Amino acid sequence: MGFIKIITLEILIEVKPTLSSKNKRDYYEVLGVSRNASSDEIKKAFRKLALKYHPDRNNSPEATEKFKEIGEAYEVLSDPEKRRIYDQFGHEGLKGANFVDFSSIRLDDLMNSIFGGFGGFGDIFDTFFGGGRRSRSSRRRTAEKGANIKYNLHITLEEAYTGVKKEISVPHYETCMKCAGKGTAPGYQPEICPSCNGTGQKQTVQRSFMGQVVTITDCKRCKGTGRIIRKKCPKCNGEGIVKVERKIEVKIPKGIETGISLKVRGQGQAGRLGGEAGDLYVIIHVDKHKIFKREGEYLYREIPITYSQAVLGDSIKVDTLDGTATLNIPPRTKSGTILRIPGKGMPRLRGRGYGDLLIKVDIAIPEKLNSKQVEAIKNLKKIGL
Ligand SMILES: [Zn+2]
Ligand SMILES: [Zn+2]
Repeated sequence: MGFIKIITLEILIEVKPTLSSKNKRDYYEVLGVSRNASSDEIKKAFRKLALKYHPDRNNSPEATEKFKEIGEAYEVLSDPEKRRIYDQFGHEGLKGANFVDFSSIRLDDLMNSIFGGFGGFGDIFDTFFGGGRRSRSSRRRTAEKGANIKYNLHITLEEAYTGVKKEISVPHYETCMKCAGKGTAPGYQPEICPSCNGTGQKQTVQRSFMGQVVTITDCKRCKGTGRIIRKKCPKCNGEGIVKVERKIEVKIPKGIETGISLKVRGQGQAGRLGGEAGDLYVIIHVDKHKIFKREGEYLYREIPITYSQAVLGDSIKVDTLDGTATLNIPPRTKSGTILRIPGKGMPRLRGRGYGDLLIKVDIAIPEKLNSKQVEAIKNLKKIGL
């Protein structure tokens, strides 16, 4: 049981609604195109607007909302099927089960879906604006994958038996929406670090017996980012990321065992500079049960039986994890014998079916006997039992 098994699960993410579906503007109006615009015209209009309102370039308070609005309009009008439904039924038509509810799309998801991540978006800016954003050291632009998160989850043996859906609250870091990850207060922009000229590095030249040695270290003033923030964003304190509790529903398969890790892709910490998010590992701990012990697919319990049951045999009802089952005690069963009820153990995590329930039967010595019982036992003794 000590090893780790990794299973990729389907997950659900609960996100805060950001755009009300009411009072939605017409998508064509949002992009400023006619209702019979070609897909090329739509793409052009979107790019123009996206570049104008991207929060990295536009500091006005409504830029983020605006950016989302045009992203949403583009998402629909660039997809022939969605566009057809929108033309026919309007905003309501897109609310059907097969479509994403745009009111809960997050900005970074949107950018990812359209540009393939922050990094991708940056590249688009570079082509459009002559690489202005590249003037800093390219070393510093390396995307960094977010950290993985480990989450210890305790479940009962019954839950491991049936499988269960658990909603867990995972604290993690997300891009700060107030400053769009820049870390600056509204109206301010990050500035190029004067100490390293935006390279994020400091070079020191030393002469040694080997000749000239150049040592490169991270700039202390900007901590290697190449940028300094004069006025920090009040929400994230200049970090560009904020700690949030995200609710994630994890489907735990039946038959799960202590020590198994469930990998939930992309639900770890946000990546930096466009890096992909880390993963969430939910580590399962199945709590001890009052009656049943578990060993892989087997369940084990003990049951006291009487001397006469052991000698003559009997058929008794015993509690299992999900009800009752009949246990047949064969005649002349020794105390301490382990009997088996097939298929009443734990579900097999891989493969089909269930393991067995193992029952150890012990002959119990009665604590108290009435006179009639004492008489009967004495008679047994007389006849050599
Ligand atoms: Zn610096
Ligand atoms: Zn911020």
